[in-house]
Amino acid sequence: MENKRVLLCPNCGSTEVKRDNSNLAAIRFGAPIWMKCQACGFKSPAFLEVKPEEVEKIREEIKNAIKEEQDLNQ
Ligand SMILES: [Zn+2]
Repeated sequence: MENKRVLLCPNCGSTEVKRDNSNLAAIRFGAPIWMKCQACGFKSPAFLEVKPEEVEKIREEIKNAIKEEQDLNQ
């Protein structure tokens, strides 16, 4: 129980992350398993793994980072 982790999208903060099965053949030959965010479509072999109680905090950090980036681009 204490080692429970949830996958969190580093792009939008969603936890709607599923295994990406679009390259099963490649996985069979040793390619890394990729995950895909169902909310924004972000794909990566390395999603954030966080404790369930940290999800909200990290979501806030991602939101702030996105906002800062947008401010810089204005
Ligand atoms: Zn996402």
